[in-house]
Amino acid sequence: MREEDIGGQHFYYLESCFRQLWLYAKGIRFEEGFEDVELGRLYHEESYERNRKEIRVDGIVIDFIKKDGYIHETKSSKVVKKEHETQPLYYAYVLKYRKQFNNIKGAKIHYPAIKEIITLDLTEDRVEEIEKKIQAILENVQRADIPPVHSNKKLCKKCAYFEFCYV
Ligand code: SF4
Repeated sequence: MREEDIGGQHFYYLESCFRQLWLYAKGIRFEEGFEDVELGRLYHEESYERNRKEIRVDGIVIDFIKKDGYIHETKSSKVVKKEHETQPLYYAYVLKYRKQFNNIKGAKIHYPAIKEIITLDLTEDRVEEIEKKIQAILENVQRADIPPVHSNKKLCKKCAYFEFCYV
């Protein structure tokens, strides 16, 4: 897999489970119809409908961009989580550093369920963190053997790959 093929989902799986990331990168997908994913998709489709101008660049899909210099991402969660930051920051990173859109400042995450918006500037520290995660994704997906099953069974029960890993 090339660096340009990394999408937001790879970052999500890097945070949750190396095995999930590896399977996803090999093109093994079970997400269709899976409840949690469907819920996220529903929110994604219904929220901020007026602002929606989805933009596809390499392996990423950006919810929408405004003239404020921030890329905007919508989350269905009712809780603001640190783990939500990486995907939109990566999208901002791609536009600014890979595509040379120098006016990009960072990302804003919208939480319509709790009516909150979080602003994240693309600082040097955040850029460094994203570059480390890009390397971690590439190393994980290039390993020859499938990573072991996650020790957190609670997480596994919500995972689209559950049947693949446990049955
Ligand atoms: S079921 Fe568990 S081990 Fe398997 S991919 Fe999902 S989180 Fe990872």
